[in-house]
Amino acid sequence: MKKAYFRFYEELNDFFPAEKRKIKFEHTFIDRASVKDMIESFGVPHIEIDLILVNSKSVDFSYLVNDKDEISVYPVFESLDISEVQHLRPKPLREPKFVLDVHLGKLTRYMRMMGFDTIYKNNYNDDGLIKISLDDKRTILTRDREILKRNDVTHGHWVRNENPEEQLKEIIERFDLKDQIKEFTRCLECNDLLKKVEKELVIEKLPPKVKEWYNEFFLCPQCNRIYWKGSHYERMQELISRIKNNIS
Ligand SMILES: [Zn+2]
Repeated sequence: MKKAYFRFYEELNDFFPAEKRKIKFEHTFIDRASVKDMIESFGVPHIEIDLILVNSKSVDFSYLVNDKDEISVYPVFESLDISEVQHLRPKPLREPKFVLDVHLGKLTRYMRMMGFDTIYKNNYNDDGLIKISLDDKRTILTRDREILKRNDVTHGHWVRNENPEEQLKEIIERFDLKDQIKEFTRCLECNDLLKKVEKELVIEKLPPKVKEWYNEFFLCPQCNRIYWKGSHYERMQELISRIKNNIS
């Protein structure tokens, strides 16, 4: 029986039960396997990993694990200087765009509310999701770890939280989007950018009280929905302030 010792860093610990978090643990094996296969057997998708050190040297995913190897696994760094080593992830996408899996409908609306380019349909399968991600250079956000283990996935993130507001905060922090928030610029239903529209042009479609009280209107060119800063807007504004105040 061979043994290897693993230590996972930072948010990679989210994939482990409490007793294996933030400590070195022993893994026994018989046949040699790639470090990617071994790591994914613990439930950690390769897409979350940027750096693997084996006995203090950086290796790629195809490295075959030896008896008594000491293996350190790191997530994508934001700031640490690790320029000398071999990074496993392609560079972050310059313009953040996302495609969300079918379970993240509420998060989709929240992300659009913040102005982030977010595609979602409630009938995507795994292949469809990956194709859109690759064709359109979008990061996959999902609650399903299995899809992130696929070799053809280049940009993805396993959403840790279950509550949509917590999810939104998680995504803004993880992708450092705080300075890119442009609230109320996208249609919540179809992701298109809203255009300001003169009141005269939409007045016939407005409910009587809206006609009376509001003068500023925005139109979605795709679905023709009209937006104004009514009570719904105020509730969203509260949510946005809460998020902005809580981002670390
Ligand atoms: Zn629309």
